[in-house]
Amino acid sequence: MLSDIQISRDHACKPIADIATKLGINETELSLFGQNKAKVSLSVAKRLADKPNAKLVIVTAVTPTPFGEGKTVTTIGLTQAMNAIGVKTCGCIRQPSMGPVFGIKGGAAGGGYAQVVPMEELNLHLTGDIHAVSSAHNLAAAAIDARLFHETKLGAEAFTEASGLSAVNIDPENILWRRVVDHNERSLRQIEVGFGAVNGPVHSSGFDITAASELMAILALSQDLHDLRQRIGRLVLALDTHANPITAEDIGVAGAMTAIMKAAIEPTLMQTISGDPCLIHAGPFANIAHGNSSIIADNIAAKLADVVVTEAGFGSDMGFEKFSNIKVRESGYAPSAAVVVVTLKALKANSGVESQLAIDEPDLARLQAGFANLEWHINNVHQYGAPVVVAINRFPTDTAEELDWLQAKIASTRAFGCAISTAFADGAAGGAELAKLVHAATQTASNFKCLYQAEQSLEAKLMTLAEVGYGAAGVTMSDKATQQLAWLDKHGYSHMPVCIAKTPMSISHDASVKGVPRGFDLPINELRLNAGAGFVTALVGKVLTMPGLGVRPNYINIDIDANDEIIGLD
Ligand code: ADP
Ligand code: MG
Repeated sequence: MLSDIQISRDHACKPIADIATKLGINETELSLFGQNKAKVSLSVAKRLADKPNAKLVIVTAVTPTPFGEGKTVTTIGLTQAMNAIGVKTCGCIRQPSMGPVFGIKGGAAGGGYAQVVPMEELNLHLTGDIHAVSSAHNLAAAAIDARLFHETKLGAEAFTEASGLSAVNIDPENILWRRVVDHNERSLRQIEVGFGAVNGPVHSSGFDITAASELMAILALSQDLHDLRQRIGRLVLALDTHANPITAEDIGVAGAMTAIMKAAIEPTLMQTISGDPCLIHAGPFANIAHGNSSIIADNIAAKLADVVVTEAGFGSDMGFEKFSNIKVRESGYAPSAAVVVVTLKALKANSGVESQLAIDEPDLARLQAGFANLEWHINNVHQYGAPVVVAINRFPTDTAEELDWLQAKIASTRAFGCAISTAFADGAAGGAELAKLVHAATQTASNFKCLYQAEQSLEAKLMTLAEVGYGAAGVTMSDKATQQLAWLDKHGYSHMPVCIAKTPMSISHDASVKGVPRGFDLPINELRLNAGAGFVTALVGKVLTMPGLGVRPNYINIDIDANDEIIGLD
């Protein structure tokens, strides 16, 4: 089979304006970026406000493995297949970060004959939203340091006289706002800034990847530009010398940050390889951030299509949990069905059983041992109340015997049903059975509910997530986290939902524990306030908010050929 980028390049895209017209977007609501991409105005959702929302389908998966489970392949394949069976469907996915593109994973446009095209335009820059997030984020970092410099140099009174602004008295030991860049840059995780008198007071700082920026979460969770502006105003950048929060509003930078992000508020329309619409918007990771594309894109798609298919990152303990407890809580737009993607390879890799056989060789014993992981994810998703469809993403090496065994096992679970998808190899036709099943699931009663009430204490919410969300015995809090908890309570931030940052490679906090971990305590190392996004992030176990490049990163494969085409971006 051809490589993903070869398939994308060989495909003749339709003009994106035609895709938009077919979807019901007016010419005045579209800003073209060449032939293949267009920004879509938020006025679409206002114009069609009276129309009922489309059924929302959320795609999640078993615990991820290095072999790729195919959530994006299934999200795009399902979008294609739904349209092919006559159900007007729009996909909504995140914009890929260049960290994984050049790091380990490669592109994130789906793959094979279930992908968004042209894939290199999706994977690199797109319409610049990630750059806007980085730029607005780093403006706030510059602003807080400039304020510290001038207030320190002049003293509060002279500062006010010179600037007409009130002094905020930043504590240099408590500058919470770091920098971001959209690359895997481990050497920048921890830095010192401000050396020498003319450079401002020395303090520690560091870089996170842009996907982990609170601004990225804000972009994904905002309802409109006004809401974005309010949330940016609430960002807590530092503490003052009395440990009170200093916000972006307090130092007067919130308006300018919003101005940088004005165009980023609009989702970008692209197309699948079958010419179906797909909105791309925002890109928070699902391990260190909340892992879902934007509410704005869903809201626009909800008015234009009859079904919206969206993807939550990593396994159901990660992106789907945050989709349910953070995104749906904010949007009020509950899913009518959930799809859990599984592969034979993923179950074998999740079995925790050592085997002489290669991962793609038939190995019923290992498959049986790994099934517990799938059943855990089915039950996990099921407890939120939407019908659960299992999609078996078929690889060419899969045998009929193992697929039959798996289908029979799934029939004994709480799943609504299961279907094999060969959308990767066969495009829309390969997803037909899955599309019919998902469509049937959306027609049944869905009684969606979040796992906890926002008003509960932060400890109670952490406990619920640990016990009910991961099957842990309880939580342990570091001294630092305990102190932060007291500060959050004192300053009135305990009513927010919790965003867990942990490894996605296990249901627990320990990447090496496969299958269904039990009896563990979830170690809460640190709590970070995300007052603008509207949640408190809990850092669990060893988790890094800036990835690093491996020994042979994917960028080694990427180049341009004699025809000026990008190669190696698979
Ligand atoms: P996820 O969204 O779960 O991270 P992707 O959909 O991005 O996974 O797929 C991960 C990788 O696996 C991609 O390179 C994709 O092309 C490949 N892949 C997915 N499904 C299949 C399949 N059925 N056959 C072959 N390769 C596949
Ligand atoms: Mg994906």
